[in-house]
Amino acid sequence: MSEYDYDLFVIGAGSGGVRAARLAAALGKRVGIAEEYRIGGTCVIRGCVPKKLLVYASRYGGEIEDARKFGWDYEDLQFDWPTLIHNVHREVDRLNGAYTRTLENAGVDRFLTRATVDGPHGVRLADREAPISADYILIATGGSPSMPDVPGKEHLISSNECFQLEALPDSIVVIGAGYIGMEFASIFAGLGVAVTVLHRGEQVLRGFDMDLRDGLAEAMRDRGVDLHMNADIAAVEKDGGGYRVALKDGSSVCASLVMAATGRAPNTKGLGLEDAGVELGRNGNVVVDEYSKSSVDSIYAAGDVSDRVALTPVAIREGTAFVETVFEGRPTVMDYTFIPTAVFTEPEIGTVGLTEEEARKKYREVDIYKSSFRPMRATISGRDETVLIKIVVDAATEKVLGVHLLGPDAAEIAQMAAISLKLGVTKPQLDSTMALHPSIAEELVTMRQKWTPPEPIKGSDAAA
Ligand code: FAD
Repeated sequence: MSEYDYDLFVIGAGSGGVRAARLAAALGKRVGIAEEYRIGGTCVIRGCVPKKLLVYASRYGGEIEDARKFGWDYEDLQFDWPTLIHNVHREVDRLNGAYTRTLENAGVDRFLTRATVDGPHGVRLADREAPISADYILIATGGSPSMPDVPGKEHLISSNECFQLEALPDSIVVIGAGYIGMEFASIFAGLGVAVTVLHRGEQVLRGFDMDLRDGLAEAMRDRGVDLHMNADIAAVEKDGGGYRVALKDGSSVCASLVMAATGRAPNTKGLGLEDAGVELGRNGNVVVDEYSKSSVDSIYAAGDVSDRVALTPVAIREGTAFVETVFEGRPTVMDYTFIPTAVFTEPEIGTVGLTEEEARKKYREVDIYKSSFRPMRATISGRDETVLIKIVVDAATEKVLGVHLLGPDAAEIAQMAAISLKLGVTKPQLDSTMALHPSIAEELVTMRQKWTPPEPIKGSDAAA
């Protein structure tokens, strides 16, 4: 019999924590888990799931307009935010229940309270005196929005509050043009809100392929979203019934609501980690090795709190790898290559592998295949939309290094492309694959023409 109360105690019942707890319990381990908000974590309660439901809602308006040209006719169309948000909450509640039952059925002890670390094998719960001991502790506390430190920051909301709004605002300023900022800008625009995006950088979506960044910015502007780049916030103040966002260049923007989407920080504050000897990184993240082990042998970390790749499937895989390593005697190193990613804007982005910029830094010669076209449905709907598909190839080996898509179903296509990239697909193998016609994805196997950058413009001919 172990000297500890539990073989494993997990702090945080989100994507990574629930998976690790369930798998360890299935191996017969004695497992406890603490959750201070709601079981399911960010993804289920105030991230991927409710967001994607809002994305669906935001697309119907445009689709109904498209449908008219296809012969459908409707009168008296109305959108009702309370109905939407009520139904979203109902689904979140259902998932919260499903995750809770999963833990219950696996025999995991659940503590709905805040937990902190008390030494290498100790956990303290906020609602009880007696400490709990565990052979291993898994920190799976995720992350929280980091808000800009400007005067008037108390007026800002984050993505968390977007899911709780009682009414849809007339106008909104979104600060930050990372994927969360762009997704919410797109959701609000689709629901008829006047949207302004203020971003400190040169272009939206830092880290994505430049063609996608440019393409999305242009498409969002065409949809009426007011995108301001190189915009540095100075302050936020109340202005009548709404708010005024003052910029450092002296200009200002007014809106009914101001949302900050300026990054997320790992939840490690006040967790007792430093006192237990756990090393934290610059962003407050738990520093871990390739097996997710912290600087203390009995304390591991999985998911956003370790600040590796902040996505749900990655957190889940890290939780799984932790259990394989620690409880199954199968040390498992995580593989972070070819993680497909989506941005659920309108139009949508789906991407996997290296961007052109990354590939050019890493490989001597890179071939680019690019196709930009009007999707078939736009020929009748008249919608002003362009699909962009781009393939990045290592010229020496012909291996496909990256696939980047902007347009309908880009996320679904990127998931399928990820399988072939993971298996090491080459451009000739793509070319030998039969096309599925008519589809957008067929372009992936029919592009033959290498893209060549335009000749640099020389001398006075430039104006000609
Ligand atoms: P979390 O899921 O955040 O779970 C951590 C849990 O720990 C939380 O429930 C928290 O309440 C709890 N906790 C924290 N501290 C304590 C404590 N001291 N004691 C007890 N409990 C504690 N990812 C995707 O893959 N696709 C998407 O489309 C996507 N969309 C997103 C949209 C938004 C708006 C946001 C915010 C995130 C999105 N993500 C998306 C990211 C994804 O949600 C996270 O990567 C994922 O949830 C990380 O899982 P985790 O287990 O690390 O942490």
